[in-house]
Amino acid sequence: MTAQIDIVSLYPNDMNIYGDSGNVLAVRRRLELYGYKPVVHAYNQGDEWPDHADIILGGGGQDNGQKKITEDLFARADLLRSLADDGTPMLMICGLYQLFGDYFETVDGTRLDGIGILGAYTVGQDKRMIGNLVESSPQFGTVIGYENHSGQTFLREGVEPFGRVDHDGMGNNGEDHTEGARVRNVIGTYLHGSLLPKNSAVTDFLIRTAATRRYGTFPEEQTSEQTEALRALDDVESRARHVAGSRPR
Ligand code: GLN
Repeated sequence: MTAQIDIVSLYPNDMNIYGDSGNVLAVRRRLELYGYKPVVHAYNQGDEWPDHADIILGGGGQDNGQKKITEDLFARADLLRSLADDGTPMLMICGLYQLFGDYFETVDGTRLDGIGILGAYTVGQDKRMIGNLVESSPQFGTVIGYENHSGQTFLREGVEPFGRVDHDGMGNNGEDHTEGARVRNVIGTYLHGSLLPKNSAVTDFLIRTAATRRYGTFPEEQTSEQTEALRALDDVESRARHVAGSRPR
């Protein structure tokens, strides 16, 4: 029987901009090619939580979209915190990255409390930070994506960034060269784009972590067609990286 991996897509109705849903497609496709059966659960406000959550993916949104989901996010906060403590791999982009931190004070002065999984806080400003971004991460190497946010995020003491932006891009706040945050297997980042189709090292980290936690091994047996298709996908990925990385702004 094919080993199933359950992916939860968090609030896709309100939190999904600049191609973030591509992250779900990338995880699903690579899981298939590694020999797994991916099942995607779209979770919106008021939905039932699925029985299994092996990988949790969340996207960005307008300040308004963030306001809309806050109440439900708080209703799920204990669950998400215990999954994070337990090592569940998660990827939160931009708007949900901010709400996985301590709080986001929007540019109009509204304070949206976060669920405190990532030690960070965010303050909105008038100037937006927009453009392709190239960062380096000790674990994932060069990571390429697209940022578009007004919030400036600051990491609490001792919290690891996801990566460092040395030249091309603003990152968390345009001041300290950090980008994103990483706590246990939870990654928060400003990178849209979509991120995962261009950065398979990150996709494979999420998949490997999820599969090993649930089944103890990775990967499943692959057919030669699957291996071949994975190589073809890697080729498309490297061309996409090349294009995005060569026009950072
Ligand atoms: N609304 C937030 C901001 O502007 C998040 C934006 C986003 O998710 N792209 O900072």
